[in-house]
Amino acid sequence: MPIVETIVVELADRSYEVQVGVGVLAEVGPAAAEVAPAGRAVIITDSNVRPLYAEPVSRSLVSAGLRVEVLDFPAGEEHKDLATYGDVINRLLGLSPPIDRATLIVALGGGVVGDLAGFVAATALRGLEFIIVPTTLLADVDASVGGKTAVDAPAGKNLIGAFHQPRAVVIDAAVLKTLPPAELINGLAECVKHAVIRDRSLLDFIERQAPALLSAEAEMLAKLIARNVAIKAAVVAGDEREAGERAHLNFGHTLGHAIEAAGGYGRVRHGQAVALGMVAACRIAAGRGLITADEERRVREVLSALSLPVRFADLPDLPAEACEPGRLREIMAHDKKARGGVVRFVLPVGLGRAAIFDDVTGQEVLSAIEALSG
Ligand code: ADP
Ligand code: ZN
Repeated sequence: MPIVETIVVELADRSYEVQVGVGVLAEVGPAAAEVAPAGRAVIITDSNVRPLYAEPVSRSLVSAGLRVEVLDFPAGEEHKDLATYGDVINRLLGLSPPIDRATLIVALGGGVVGDLAGFVAATALRGLEFIIVPTTLLADVDASVGGKTAVDAPAGKNLIGAFHQPRAVVIDAAVLKTLPPAELINGLAECVKHAVIRDRSLLDFIERQAPALLSAEAEMLAKLIARNVAIKAAVVAGDEREAGERAHLNFGHTLGHAIEAAGGYGRVRHGQAVALGMVAACRIAAGRGLITADEERRVREVLSALSLPVRFADLPDLPAEACEPGRLREIMAHDKKARGGVVRFVLPVGLGRAAIFDDVTGQEVLSAIEALSG
């Protein structure tokens, strides 16, 4: 089974295609040749992904007539920083013969590679075209659509970056076989998010297929990825810089980001923090009668079936600070998305729909966080 689906991300003159399939790394060459005819491609990847997938991707690019070079940097979120960015961009600019504006960047890896290589592409020679070949589920369903590129700063995550849309995205679900299970689970949280805010039938699918998804069955994952990319593409289209609809993608992230920050980055995974954030948001929604108690329970059950946490106690290594309601509330009030100290919450309105609320009271937030401790 080659390409399962092609999804078009509609962005006026910068629309691009996301191809999703099983065993489709060989499609990277043809996609690249369209963007950089008879040109040159530089693959940017990390030290884990390079030995696994740089070779087949290079081969595909060479077959399509491109000259190919590979640059890698050490794997891990802690390397998504200015120092690594500086090192990679200097190595890129030091290639011989020198790169030019027609050089194509191929970001091959998880979200860290996509963000860092994307930012390199956005800034080298004032902007190079790039294509993304994501290799984690999180990058497949999240970072592959939206055009956000960034590195972390000491002051916070993703604070140095640019919007830079890729020219194409090629997603091969087969590469998820080598992904550590915890990384797969991390990506499943964003899939539940998309289901709750936009697509009730996707929630049915995830419930039914949870065991197949957890065992990384490529065909099932490809279907899951295609549906999620389509949802994210629909949300992002026409709302490129995060004004209205796009904010719905923050469901579970208001509290999730606070838990990540309070726990110390790297101690708690993004997907785990977002799962807890979604549980809390559903608690608030149920308290307001926006969803029923059954619907609230259903979201918790699907998260549990995916081995995602639904209570603080499900994460035994979580530091006590990350569960402290007062501290979490304070961090949320300082979130870059909080306007004038008002914390905006995305809440489900029935399952499959969402809306933004800026009247959620401190008491509602506190009780929802306390419920996570129960
Ligand atoms: P994310 O996509 O969650 O933002 P990373 O880019 O840091 O995160 O990827 C998570 C980890 O998984 C990193 O150590 C990365 O090198 C590794 N990795 C990425 N893709 C694969 C893969 N397909 N197989 C094995 N390891 C992978
Ligand atoms: Zn997220």
